[in-house]
Parts: sequence; C-alpha cells; structure tokens
Amino acid sequence: MTEQLIIFDTTLRDGEQSPGASMTKEEKVRIAKQLEKLGVNVIEAGFAAASPGDFEAIQAVSKAIKKSTVCSLARAVESDIEKAGNAIKGAASKRIHTFIATSPIHMENKLRMTSDQVLARAVQAVKWALNFTDDVEFSAEDAVRSDISFLIEVFDAVIQAGAKTINVPDTVGYSIPHAWGERVGTLIANVPNAGSVIWSTHCHNDLGMAVANSLSAVINGARQVECTINGLGERAGNASLEEIVMAIKTRKDIFNLETSINTTEIVPASRLVSTITGYPVQPNKAIVGANAFAHESGIHQDGVLKHRETYEIMRAEDVGWGANKISLGKLSGRNAFKTRLAEIGIEVESDDMLNAAFDRFKELADKKAEIFDEDIHALVSEEYVEVSVDLYKLISLKSQSETGTIPSASIKISISGVEHAAEVSGNGPVDATFKAIESIVNSQSELLLFSVNNITSGTDAQGEVTVRLSKGGRVVNGLGADIDIVIASAKAYLNALNKLFSKLERAHPQI
Ligand SMILES: [Zn+2]
Repeated sequence: MTEQLIIFDTTLRDGEQSPGASMTKEEKVRIAKQLEKLGVNVIEAGFAAASPGDFEAIQAVSKAIKKSTVCSLARAVESDIEKAGNAIKGAASKRIHTFIATSPIHMENKLRMTSDQVLARAVQAVKWALNFTDDVEFSAEDAVRSDISFLIEVFDAVIQAGAKTINVPDTVGYSIPHAWGERVGTLIANVPNAGSVIWSTHCHNDLGMAVANSLSAVINGARQVECTINGLGERAGNASLEEIVMAIKTRKDIFNLETSINTTEIVPASRLVSTITGYPVQPNKAIVGANAFAHESGIHQDGVLKHRETYEIMRAEDVGWGANKISLGKLSGRNAFKTRLAEIGIEVESDDMLNAAFDRFKELADKKAEIFDEDIHALVSEEYVEVSVDLYKLISLKSQSETGTIPSASIKISISGVEHAAEVSGNGPVDATFKAIESIVNSQSELLLFSVNNITSGTDAQGEVTVRLSKGGRVVNGLGADIDIVIASAKAYLNALNKLFSKLERAHPQI
C-alpha cells in the first residue's frame, strides 16, 4: 500500500496574514468548504486568540466542515490554547496546533526565556492542549535557525507529552533544499520514538524555495506538508498546495506517495481564494496561472497536437482547467439561484441579501449569456461587503476616452443613502474614475495596487479588478466585477473604501 502525504492547508491562517487578505467569517466558511471538496486532510482555520472575529470564524468553520480536520493555531500560552480548544469544540475532527520559538534569536529577544523555560513550556502547552483534543501538533518556530541538539531535546519531550504531529518550520524562508531535507532527516533519525509521530514541514518562500524545501523534507521522511492555495502568505508567501500536490502526483516514480486531493478542484479553489482575498494569480504561475498550460511556440504546438506527451507533463483538465460549468442562465429563477449558491458553499443569511444578490445576478445575466460559478462567487463577494456595510454604493458611471482627448469620468455614488455626483478628468478612464470618487469621498487613503483579471475566458467575460488601499497602517483589498472594466474598477475602489471604513469584524492575526 502506498504511503500517504498529509496535506495541511493554512490558507485561512498563514495565508490570511498577507496584507489586506483578512477575511470575514462568511468568506472563511466558503473557502473551507472548497478545501473540503478539494480533499485537504487538515484545515488550519485561524488563530483563535488573535481576535474575537478569528475565534468566531474558526467556530463557524468547525460547524460547517465534516470530512477534514479543523485546526486552530495557539501560542504555548494557556489562555491561547483554551481559546483554540473552545473554538474547535464543534468540529467532527479537531486539532490544536501549538508553537513556541526555539532559536536563540527568538528566545532571547522575543520570548525573553531561557532554553530550559522554553522546553518546559512546550511540554506544558502540549498537556494543556490534550485537555481539548488528542490530536495535538507542536511546532518549533524558527526551527531553521535553532540548535539541532536543542530541537531534538524539545521534540523528544513533546512526543513524550503526547504530541502526535511534529512540525519543523522554516519561518523566515532561509533554507535551501538539500540543507532542509538533511535537517528534517537528522531530526527523524535522532529523536527517540520519531516513528510514533507524523513529521511535518512548513516552509516560506522568501528565497523562492518553499515548495522545493518542502519536497526535500518529504524525501527525507516528512509525511505532512503545510501549504496554502496559490502560495498565499505574508512576504513572499508559503509553499503552494497545488505545486506540492502535482509534484507528488506527477513524479510518483520519485516520491512514491499519495495524497487525498481531488486535483480537479485545484483551479476552482485557486479562483475562489483569489476572488475573496483580492490577490490575483500571476499568469505564469505553475499549475494555476492562466498560461500554465498554454503552448505558444509553433514547435511546441505542433508537438502537442501530434502527441500530447511531447511537451505536456500534466493535463490541464486534471487540475480543473476548463471544468467551469455553465451554472445558470438568463432564465434561471430565484430558487435555482438559491440552490446553486448552496451547492457551491454559499449560505445566504437573510432574504434581503438573497434578493439583492439575485437582482445583481439578473443584471449580469442580461449582459452575459453564460454564468459560471466563478461569476456567482464574485457577485456574492461584492454583495456581502455592501449589505453588511452599505456606506458607499455606485449609482452610475459614465467614462469617456478617445484618442487625442483628455479622458473624463462622471460618477454618481450614494453615501449612506445620500446621492453625490462628480465629474473629473484624469490620465485615463480608470484614473479619472478614481479621482472622481475621491473628489466626493476624500478618504485620504493611498492606492497601493490596481490589477485587472478575467474571471472566465472570452471577451464577454467579467473583468475582475483588485484595488488595494492603505490608510493609517490598515490595508484592505477591494474587489469589483463587471463586463466593463472601468465600472469594475469603480466597484473595486468603493468596495475597498467600504472595507476600510467598515466595523465588520475581520480576523487579524499578528504572529
Ligand atoms: Zn508560516
């Protein structure tokens, strides 16, 4: 029988620590349901002690998920572990992931603890966690810069205390593949009773080697990999789930391992995470980038047409490309709409919200013949922010651009129900639109990022625009979708403003 590699997804915890990617409870549940469909073994849903919002989101995920294990992160602090334990209480299968730093630089400067104190606390943390679940994972933060004999001592002690999974993280993305594999291999060879636990690795991508380092750990005995969809994560991100999974599957000759991932759900998961967080996927990203399976050169195209394997090592349909199903059309009614929402994991909380989303769906169906699941996710993402905040709303927009003239935009928006209008010129229709909004709102925020993506292929596809704004240290991503990209841009800008000024609870882990 082939051994299993456990896929531990931390999109909802480590991924969420990306600037502006913090999610609401409802958004976390939608992603968690897709992760469950994808077949991940463990969903790290958040860091319960980080904020009341994060606590509630973990609770909601615990309730919604039946097949995957739901996990909360917790520092090696009793109150953190208690919150984690309470947050996952309702889960069918639950895990607490507790951690403490073991490197001299972290112990001295951050924790201000001696190594003896750290060792004792690690053991204590595992014991506290066992009061809530027998599935306890322990991480030695900054293991990459920790003394190996101290790591062996700590891991030995926490295994004796009852930890079932031992995670070796490269918190700062410092390692390189052969060194990381060797480190994990050395630990497994030298920690007493190493065979009684699952060894895990958690790598960051600061040097672009998160996936390579993770796979090197796997070759050396790790049987759990911590990763995120699209490699989402703070700084350069985490190891990307899709790359790990497809490497294991495509190079079975080397790894001889299996995962429980239904790979055809990879692209839908990637799309959903990108839509909700406002982090677009680069076109040349492996597996999930728009060009990942595009063969442009004539020699390649010729080869692929004659015999696919000449240039293709994977099939696009195996990772879910081209699988977007036409989900609804112009004639679909409210009930069909509601049913489809439920099928793709969206629970509408009130009739008002359903009606508003249905109206938008009708508007879109008038302009676009085929409505895909991705369109519905984009539409609902917008609706949630507006219904829950309802501060800034787009009423109408007219933008003009013509060669040889100065572009201008004339916009009407409502602020808490009161209509305002402005007409402003700019360097382009989008610039003019943003300036027009600012001439009314005067948010004093800074525009950090503007990007446009297609939600589905084809020129009648909706354009999806991400706008990242920052103000007073707070960063938010706004999202707008429309078949007209200038309108999508206006929606994204207003969506970002709504998030910036909303009191809606968002999880905001700091560690
Ligand atoms: Zn991390």
